[in-house]
Amino acid sequence: MTPPKPSTRKPLALGCIADDFTGATDLANNLVRSGMRTVQLMGVPKADHSHDDADAVVVALKSRTIPAEEAIAQSLAALEWLLAHGAQQIYFKYCSTFDSTPKGNIGPVAEALMKALGTSFTIATPAFPENQRSVFQGHLFVGSTLLEHTGMRDHPLTPMTDSNLVRVLQAQCHQRVGLVDAATVAEGSAAVGERMLSLQRQGVGLAIVDAISNRDLLTIGAALKGMRLVTGGSGVAIGLAQNFGISPNPTSEALPKAKGKKAVVSGSCSVATQAQVAHFIAQGFPSFQIHPAEIDTQGALVNKALAWAASQNEHEPILIYSTSSPGEVKTIQDKLGVGHAGELVETTLAAIAKGLVHQGVRQLLVAGGETSGACVQALGIDQMQIGPQIDPGVPWCWAQASASEFATPSGDAVSLHLALKSGNFGTEDFFVKSFGLLK
Ligand code: ADP
Repeated sequence: MTPPKPSTRKPLALGCIADDFTGATDLANNLVRSGMRTVQLMGVPKADHSHDDADAVVVALKSRTIPAEEAIAQSLAALEWLLAHGAQQIYFKYCSTFDSTPKGNIGPVAEALMKALGTSFTIATPAFPENQRSVFQGHLFVGSTLLEHTGMRDHPLTPMTDSNLVRVLQAQCHQRVGLVDAATVAEGSAAVGERMLSLQRQGVGLAIVDAISNRDLLTIGAALKGMRLVTGGSGVAIGLAQNFGISPNPTSEALPKAKGKKAVVSGSCSVATQAQVAHFIAQGFPSFQIHPAEIDTQGALVNKALAWAASQNEHEPILIYSTSSPGEVKTIQDKLGVGHAGELVETTLAAIAKGLVHQGVRQLLVAGGETSGACVQALGIDQMQIGPQIDPGVPWCWAQASASEFATPSGDAVSLHLALKSGNFGTEDFFVKSFGLLK
């Protein structure tokens, strides 16, 4: 990688490295709510990426389940960019269910970042009590259930069969792993600071930190002032802005004024999305269903969907969806194979999203994690300014479509408001209310 030129803009307060795309947005959403203007970058940043006037940058990697050496290499490349842009504190974000295996990637990436930053101590906590993730005596609970008794036990890639995070992280690390327990956190940030110092003196390199309320996260946050590297889920990030003299404020979520046509593209078949699609249609908004069996290689169905879209009232939001019931999805998957069916639908919806932007859609909501990834890639979006939250974990964003066909004669990029909703996020009226939130 060519070393990026040092930026002339204000230095970053917080530089974040997230191990997956939707997790990155979840973190960015929390940072904005804590008052930090935040930009999310897709993949290892390139030299010409900028952070404008952001207080925080979140680099979204897809490094959760790739081989540990690759996850380390990508994370270090992201770190290099963040440091070159002046990041004062580095945050490594992983899943709130601590998704990992004895090979990593949480421990190996955390230790590689510590080494690169020349720091001998960091913390690790996936806790986010408001979102049902608490850590007590080093044990992770999802609601009132120990992690090992949840569905995560049978996760195909990262089965979590031990709720004791000290033990889980120790298996992934060379350095000793310790614990800052809930009783210490309850005493306040000074006590947390003293406990971290004492652990360091005992030769501990990483400490799991308990948190059983959101107030605990703020206490922990205050104790992390000046710590070079922090690792955690998206929760502990809510307590970091205070250390930079930043408090919640309306400008952190300000986006350019919304304009243009409004559309929803939905490829998610999750239960919440099914209810959102049904609600949107029941409210009388126009919709067009994509049946996977009708997808052709010549793009006739894409053209048909786009011709339909072009004929709609341009002041009303429209919906193009492949969302269907589990039974219908299974029938298609049995016929085409799970992977092929998914890819076919994703490619089709991404081509439609692109066509919609050509037609003047500038407020685009995409439902489905994989579907969002496909649409963002097709539009050539590699950077998003994070705006107001629609529902927990899903903010409106503002982005530029840089796919070559969007280049205008004047050289101005096409910019649009974008919301990427993964699976089960959002209330039933999500599609309808989202557009009302944009000013
Ligand atoms: P979620 O976030 O709800 O999991 P994703 O977009 O990540 O949604 O995943 C949904 C997957 O299902 C995608 O690969 C998508 O292409 C595929 N899909 C969408 N609609 C259908 C359908 N009607 N039949 C089969 N597969 C579908």
